[in-house]
Amino acid sequence: MNLSEFYKKVILDHAKNKRNHRKMDAFTHKIHYKNPTCGDVMTMYAWINDEETVEDVSFIGEGCFISMASSSMFTIVAKGRTVKELQELSLLMNEMILNGKETEDERLEDMISFKDIHKLPARYNCALMPWQALEKLIKAERT
Ligand code: ZN
Repeated sequence: MNLSEFYKKVILDHAKNKRNHRKMDAFTHKIHYKNPTCGDVMTMYAWINDEETVEDVSFIGEGCFISMASSSMFTIVAKGRTVKELQELSLLMNEMILNGKETEDERLEDMISFKDIHKLPARYNCALMPWQALEKLIKAERT
């Protein structure tokens, strides 16, 4: 794999020690999502308040290390952000993965580790999985 050693370490750490990998007892939104190209699956849970801020977010998932690392990183990025802000960040991630456009937006934290995924088209959907799930999540009805 053609990822720089540092980014590879960051990604492997998240894949091995998934952050916020738990089911939430109380949530306003929940979505099940399946990656069409790799067989990765996840259920994302979120508590989104009336101001459209994500107060808490978690996931349960199984799949390749890229999708699991991406989902783990996503929970850290998403917590405390508004839905609108996350949609902005989603655009940046799509530009980075699909078009190879680099970003230095600090709000993405560890997710910038995925910049070299642009060289691996077969893994695009793996890296973008939580962002694709987010799109569905925010359209889902509140529970
Ligand atoms: Zn995958």
